Amino acid sequence: MYYSRPVARLIEELSKLPGIGPKTAQRLAFYLITTSKETAVNLAEAILEARDKLKFCSLCANITDTDPCGFCRDHTRDPKVICVVEHPRDVVTIEKTHGFKGHYHVLHGCLSPMDGVGPEDLSIDKLLARVKNAPVEEVIVATNADLEGDATALYLAKLLKPLGMRVTRLAYGLPVGSDLEYADGRTLVRALEGRREV
Ligand SMILES: [Zn+2]
Repeated sequence: MYYSRPVARLIEELSKLPGIGPKTAQRLAFYLITTSKETAVNLAEAILEARDKLKFCSLCANITDTDPCGFCRDHTRDPKVICVVEHPRDVVTIEKTHGFKGHYHVLHGCLSPMDGVGPEDLSIDKLLARVKNAPVEEVIVATNADLEGDATALYLAKLLKPLGMRVTRLAYGLPVGSDLEYADGRTLVRALEGRREV
């Protein structure tokens, strides 16, 4: 009742974004309606373009504007190693460390019976199909260092080990219970180097 309807709508939509509370939503809304029209239009168009042009890679399930994605098409990367992550943002986090030159696979979440997320909700089928058709020797499970991340790693190990590949998990250095995206680059590189068998 304090805002005109369009402002209230903008605040409501912004506050649906992850990490944006009501106060931040209000601050962003007032910034967007008082800034130049060009700034607002650029943001709106960038959101629409990203939504329209991006899709999921048919091999690794990462978000991409080409299929297969740039990582899957990159022949300089080691096809024998696949690093499994929960989210596309985790690929960016690991890539920024320059410490990994294999391929990626994005699950789009992790097993979480409490939240009703089962294997069929993740891109696990895609991963299995992929490792059967490629010379993969090792799968590094880089899910988050929490209960769900550990359960997902164990589940994948059960599926992949009988296929004759090593399944490893990121090692020391990562804070327990924390998200991969908050790890600093050096810690993450050490965790990759010290990975151990699941
Ligand atoms: Zn891909």
